Amino acid sequence: MASELEPEVPAIDQSLLECSAEETAGKWLQSTDLTREVYQHLAHYVPKIYCRGPNPFPQREDMLAQLVLLGPMEWYICGEDPAFGFPKLEQANKPSHLCGRVFKVGEPTYSCRDCAVDPTCVLCMECFLGSIHRDHRYRMTTSGGGGFCDCGDIEAWKEGPYCEKHKLNTSEIEEEEDPLIHLPEDVITRTYNIFAIMFHYAVEILTWEKESELPADLEMVEKTDTYYCMLFNDEVHTYEQVIYTLQKAVNCTQKEAIGFATTVDRDGRRSVRYGDFAYCEQAKSVIVRNTSRQTKPLKVQVMHSSIVAHQNFGLKLLSWLGSIIGYSDGLRRILCQVGLQEGPDGENSSLVDRLMLNDSKLWKGARSMYHQLFMSSLLMDLKYKKLFAVRFAKNYQQMQRDFMEDDHERAVSVTALSVQFFTAPTLARMLITEENLLTIIIKTFMDHLRHRDAQGRFQFERYTALQAFKFRRVQSLILDLKYVLISKPTEWSDDLRQKFLEGFDAFLELLKCMQGMDPVTRQVGQHIEMEPEWEAAFTLQMKLTHVISMMQDWCALDEKVLIEAYKKCLAVLMQCHGGFTDGEQPVTLSICGHSVETIRYCVSQEKVSIHLPISRLLAGLHVLLSKSEVAYKFPELLPLSELSPPMLIEHPLRCLVLCAQVHAGMWRRNGFSLVNQIYYYHNVKCRREMFDKDIIMLQTGVSMMDPNHFLMIMLSRFELYQIFSTPDYGKRLSSEITHKDVVQQNNTLIEEMLYLIIMLVGERFSPGVGQVNATDEIKREIIHQLCIKPMAHSELVKSLPEDENKETGMESVIEAVAHFKKPGLTGRGMYELKPECAKEFNLYFYHFSRAEQSKAEEAQRKLKRQNREDTALPPPVLPPFCPLFASLVNILQSDVMLYIIRTILHWAVEHNGYAWSESMLQRVLHLIGMALQEEKQHLENVMEEHVVTFTFAQKISKPGEAPNNSPSILAMLETLQNAPYLEVHKDMIRWILKTFNAIKKMRESSSASSVAEAEGTITEESSRDKDKAERKRKAEIARLRREKVMAQMSEMQRNFIDENKDLFQQTVAEEASNFAVLDNSPMVSDTTLTALGPAQTQVPKQRQFVTCILCQEEQEVKVESKAMVLAAFVQRSTVLSKNRNKVIQDPEKYDPLFMHPDLSCGTHTGSCGHVMHAHCWQRYFDSVQAKEQRRQQRLRLHTSYDVENGEFLCPLCECLSNTVIPLLLPPRNIFNKLNFSDQPNLTQWIRTISQQIKALQILRKEESIPNIASSKNSENMDELQLPEGFRPDFHPKNPYSDSIKEMLTTFGTATYKVGLKVHPNEEDPRVPIMCWGSCAYTIQSIERILSDEDKPLFGPLPCRLDDCLRSLTRFAAAHWTVALLSVVQGHFCKLFASLVPNDNYGDLPCILDIDMFHLLVGLVLAFPALQCQDFSGISLGTGDLHIFHLVTMAHIIQILLTSCTEENGMDQETPAGEEELAVLALYKTLRQCTGSALKEIPSGWHLWRSVRAGIMPFLKCSALFFHYLNGVPSPPEIQVSGTSHFEHLCNYLSLPNNLICLFQENSEITKLLVESWCQHIEVKRYLEGERDAISYPRESNKLIDLPEDYSSLINQASNFSCPKSGGDKSRTPTLCLVCGTLLCSQSYCCQAELDGEDVGACTAHTYSCGSGVCIFLRVRECQVLFLAGRTKGCFYSPPYLDDYGETDQLLRRGNPLHLCKERFKKIQKLWHQHSITEEIGHAQEANQTLVGIDWQHL
Ligand SMILES: [Zn+2]
Ligand SMILES: [Zn+2]
Ligand SMILES: [Zn+2]
Ligand SMILES: [Zn+2]
Ligand SMILES: [Zn+2]
Ligand SMILES: [Zn+2]
Ligand SMILES: [Zn+2]
Repeated sequence: MASELEPEVPAIDQSLLECSAEETAGKWLQSTDLTREVYQHLAHYVPKIYCRGPNPFPQREDMLAQLVLLGPMEWYICGEDPAFGFPKLEQANKPSHLCGRVFKVGEPTYSCRDCAVDPTCVLCMECFLGSIHRDHRYRMTTSGGGGFCDCGDIEAWKEGPYCEKHKLNTSEIEEEEDPLIHLPEDVITRTYNIFAIMFHYAVEILTWEKESELPADLEMVEKTDTYYCMLFNDEVHTYEQVIYTLQKAVNCTQKEAIGFATTVDRDGRRSVRYGDFAYCEQAKSVIVRNTSRQTKPLKVQVMHSSIVAHQNFGLKLLSWLGSIIGYSDGLRRILCQVGLQEGPDGENSSLVDRLMLNDSKLWKGARSMYHQLFMSSLLMDLKYKKLFAVRFAKNYQQMQRDFMEDDHERAVSVTALSVQFFTAPTLARMLITEENLLTIIIKTFMDHLRHRDAQGRFQFERYTALQAFKFRRVQSLILDLKYVLISKPTEWSDDLRQKFLEGFDAFLELLKCMQGMDPVTRQVGQHIEMEPEWEAAFTLQMKLTHVISMMQDWCALDEKVLIEAYKKCLAVLMQCHGGFTDGEQPVTLSICGHSVETIRYCVSQEKVSIHLPISRLLAGLHVLLSKSEVAYKFPELLPLSELSPPMLIEHPLRCLVLCAQVHAGMWRRNGFSLVNQIYYYHNVKCRREMFDKDIIMLQTGVSMMDPNHFLMIMLSRFELYQIFSTPDYGKRLSSEITHKDVVQQNNTLIEEMLYLIIMLVGERFSPGVGQVNATDEIKREIIHQLCIKPMAHSELVKSLPEDENKETGMESVIEAVAHFKKPGLTGRGMYELKPECAKEFNLYFYHFSRAEQSKAEEAQRKLKRQNREDTALPPPVLPPFCPLFASLVNILQSDVMLYIIRTILHWAVEHNGYAWSESMLQRVLHLIGMALQEEKQHLENVMEEHVVTFTFAQKISKPGEAPNNSPSILAMLETLQNAPYLEVHKDMIRWILKTFNAIKKMRESSSASSVAEAEGTITEESSRDKDKAERKRKAEIARLRREKVMAQMSEMQRNFIDENKDLFQQTVAEEASNFAVLDNSPMVSDTTLTALGPAQTQVPKQRQFVTCILCQEEQEVKVESKAMVLAAFVQRSTVLSKNRNKVIQDPEKYDPLFMHPDLSCGTHTGSCGHVMHAHCWQRYFDSVQAKEQRRQQRLRLHTSYDVENGEFLCPLCECLSNTVIPLLLPPRNIFNKLNFSDQPNLTQWIRTISQQIKALQILRKEESIPNIASSKNSENMDELQLPEGFRPDFHPKNPYSDSIKEMLTTFGTATYKVGLKVHPNEEDPRVPIMCWGSCAYTIQSIERILSDEDKPLFGPLPCRLDDCLRSLTRFAAAHWTVALLSVVQGHFCKLFASLVPNDNYGDLPCILDIDMFHLLVGLVLAFPALQCQDFSGISLGTGDLHIFHLVTMAHIIQILLTSCTEENGMDQETPAGEEELAVLALYKTLRQCTGSALKEIPSGWHLWRSVRAGIMPFLKCSALFFHYLNGVPSPPEIQVSGTSHFEHLCNYLSLPNNLICLFQENSEITKLLVESWCQHIEVKRYLEGERDAISYPRESNKLIDLPEDYSSLINQASNFSCPKSGGDKSRTPTLCLVCGTLLCSQSYCCQAELDGEDVGACTAHTYSCGSGVCIFLRVRECQVLFLAGRTKGCFYSPPYLDDYGETDQLLRRGNPLHLCKERFKKIQKLWHQHSITEEIGHAQEANQTLVGIDWQHL
């Protein structure tokens, strides 16, 4: 419809072509008012050139624009022919030392992790390869488009800023040299003039907002009345919506609509209709109406055609400017000047300002065009970059405001340019001091987050989709903030200090709005109605994490700044929580004679918030005071007296209590949002500025207050004060009937509280808290991760916090704590903890999740048991605290602490009742251990006259005061040591007592009493040792038993795990070995074994028994018994193809009788070798069918196998199958009449067979003539001269049972159906051909695999292959019994005629076009159909032998005709052997036959070599074939690998070693045959060079070569553009690993039609390249893709590994990737073995989500 209305392409206006650029420029040079002149020119010509119809013609427009519009300008600038002018300018130009290459989408970029100032500094591939960084640690990413190469920017790199190419120019850099001095004065003036006019014109027209009116000076006299309906893109509507709407609105086809939508998406706008105003307006209203229902409608404008024309030219002009300034830095500078010159309207009126401020109004294409121009001009000129940066900062707020309203991604917004200024250290610093950038950014951010609650805090409760959208945009401001802060100042000016602190103030204001946001209140009774919004607040926190850290880093760099920041932060914290002690009366707590006042507050009853950024920032600064020693240097400058420890700790403590209560299950009714918040609070992404800082804040508080007071406050916040202040709590519990949940709850709370104390004392690995450095901190993290289990590099990285540069600092320390174990063929490289590091393990490491903690505990205990150590996991020795935190340790020996310990031990001693738990006790023991370690440390490091005031050991040996007269802690421990219910903790208690004794000894080192003490200890210890040994022994026995059971279990599982497929195959091999062994066992004497012919070695009859995997019954394989079958999978294959372009055009008519030697498409049969009764399989299969059909109806799910296509999974191994092969005995033995006397020789045999064929042909002809009387028919028969003993009326009885016959038909039909892709038809005459073909093809493919892997032909073949080949060959040999005799005879006659000429067949292929092995198999297997009617005494074996010899001869001729023996110089010196003379003679004959068209060759040496090499694959295939056909064991020589087995093969195959003898022995007939073969017209054409032929041996196909470095693949793919949509970059470039084609996958543009359905490029390619199965590499994702058929596929791990032995699927990590040859070989092997489909099946079974993917759209 639409196309009818479209006018024809208008012809080119002749006047345009006659326009002369030189003349126009001349006119301009004369002009007094250049602007007017140029504008008139544009007004006249632009509309004539651009967009004169519905569709643009880019090439023509470009050509005309260059000729008429741009040409004159170039002439004008140069003052001469630009063809000379520009090269001159270029020569005078000093090349830039900046690269500045603007990245395309998908292009690889590199960042050096050692030298880049921040991760945004990147290099293009070319620069990277020429830089020093290629040997550093680097990261590779693919560009999202935009941004440019930083090579040459000295501020971007700590080292090596230039690559080799850009270094060349650095010597010439003179600072501040004006590039204009290299330009002639007149050129400068003219350039300035024309740039000013054109740039102005472009800006004016691009920012023009009227739809039908041009600027006055561009208005034309005669204006056409045509319009465009212009559709703009947005990010709200989907592709599908747009396509659907367009089809409706402008009546176009789906294809056209897709085209429109694609362009709109790419360029930002596209006209969808051209015509008069009303016509366009109508389309607009339809589009608007159709898209306005749920969302904002699509943006559509009806624009006058001349405006569109000028705008298109405006774009062209910008790109022209970009290319012109490429000629010279001088021209570039002029453009910068023009751009930044203030316009008539003063401030913000320069052209650059105008563009920036109109950014959000422009469409995508216009934006990216001018952004690119900015990048190649302003950002490349250092002087103007600075001025530009200032403009950018001045417009910052407005641009951000526009960006919030804009609906385009940030990538196409001018705001994204911020990275170019803000990350440049000097620019950033200049912008901070001069433009107050920090404050501006933060304030702008605050302006956009307006939702606050009554206290002024952010509120995200009513968080709509639109808000979410804006919120996402606001976050880009945080990114800008990060950019500004990322490079830290090395020097501070007062100005910088002042402006930074101003920014810090603004930042505190921001954090203040977050302090206490999203508070929660515990739900009691009812569950919350609606999950409250929490993600927004956490997103904000997460995004700000690095900024908060960087703020602290900045403060740390300057003492003055640190002090001021600390004061400011404290002041704000006091503002936030100033009044918290007001209101209610304080309560007084007292325990052990200590008492403290605190407020009444209950976490479980009042509001509590997890967001406390101000407290945490203060904690961070406090640590810095300690770390930088400012705290000791300038105490007078610090507001230390204002610090109120209880206030400092209050909120962090509440937060930690909240976590404890959630864990105790007290907040269950608050739903998942709270659980999630707690999770993120501890998560590696947040914890650094949340959980970690809360711990530090508590440590800060405790170090400043009486620990007894702290502990009491803590008890009270944990709501445990009552329990511990009530002496007989434990007793009461057991006597009263208390709710079990409450007890459980209290127990958990106590455990959590003890854990918190452990953390407060134990966590001293932050520099500034403890005396450690950053390396110690990271080491400790890694050690604890590896204590859980060995980990891969990426796993470790994920568990460690990243800094703002995405670094964890891991690489520098990992060597010190771990060993690296390389990966194998699967799996990843792993780091294992060094054994000596295990002693640093802290069971209560604060970053362990609960699950990790218990895993680590288990792993460490196991390790200890393995080392035959006790299993105590005592606390590690800790580094000392920094002075500011030193008093923290006293908490361990404080009275309240001892009281708590004693109380809990007391409960444990009186273990009846449930007032205690094992974990509680374990924590108490750990605390005691910590205290003892501490005391020991103190004693060891004590200075002479100092007294160690830490006297824990002494305190625990004293009896307690309360509960009254209770035993000492030590005494209780000794009691517990023997408690039978504390078996697990015994080792730990023993360790404690031992350490205690050691301390005691240290204290009383000189005391004499120690001797007695020691003795006591010894005796005690020896007895202890004894029962320890006994226990160990028992434990060891138990362990061994356990391990054995585990091993057995895993052995059982392994059978079905496909990772261990090889192992699995062995198991299967054992199962099935009963008949593999039978066959290979040497029953025959070691004399020469012969596989065929009258001399065939006679093998005694073997009985073969097999077991059905379904019913487990054993049965013998017999002709007359029920059929036994193997599950099998038949597939089309192009694995051996030498011609991938060939496709079967019409499968219904295709004649597969002769296989072409290019083997372009074969039928492969595979089997897992599992045997079933035919009827058992049938039952199984039917039930699968029924079940799957039901399931699909119900769930609309796919399965990994296609039931409708007859697919099923092997019931034992789940191997994908689509049919079954019957098991048979060697079928020849049934028909072979063993009569070896007086057999005809080849000549006689050929004659006889030819006669028989002739007779048959006459008969067939007679039959086809309709006869009235059937009697007449038989009369004719009698009249016919039948060859002696030939009885064509004889029909042999089929010896097989019905069940076997049925299976023969089943498998035959399946092969036919799959092989030809046709509907099943068991009567089709091509069925037997397909069966023989599959047999031949499968043998050929296996022969290839064995040769490629250098394996012996009859070596230990995997059992499933052996079984498969045997049954396949025997099946193919038996199949004729279920086919029509006449059909098989017909095939035989035709096949035979290809070698022995027969007048009845005209159009047979020449011998060059026949695959001889396929021919051999066909002839041999069809022969019985003829032979069964022959009673003259010729045996089947004789026929086989003659057929084989005949085909071998044909093959030799084929090889001689096609071998190219050129290297005559390399002749052998030794006298020619018998073979060589013979082959030379044969070659001469051949030359005669071909009329000397063959080259003359003087020596036979090369000929014989080519024959031998060329025929080997054929001989090997034949040996396999006859071996399986006749069941003759293989000669032992061929069972081992070694040098060529040529002679052995010949013997086995009953061939003379000198193959040429075949010709000599039968010279009378061979000469005739050879002549007839050479007479064929195709052979002549070949010899005359008119066509090609396959030569031998055929090389194996390989997957394509992949580059070693993955980035060259990425680069290759980034240069690849979609072949269908004119130069567009493909989003999913995908490489076919079979043929090397790059495809544009997963996109609308490259969909193709396959059987009437739209499929993606990969699926379409699969059919042409791999006949349904193919292997791809998705380059951007770094994933291998297997596709099979239309519905099957899976991803497979790529053959590229990083240095840590890991793959990087989806390229998330960006470590350099290198080809792993072994893994690539493995993929190739899967392909060669035809296992891709099976692999997909397994992957899909294992991962059901793979089943749901629409593979056909890839
Ligand atoms: Zn570069
Ligand atoms: Zn470079
Ligand atoms: Zn580097
Ligand atoms: Zn069975
Ligand atoms: Zn199986
Ligand atoms: Zn495409
Ligand atoms: Zn391909």
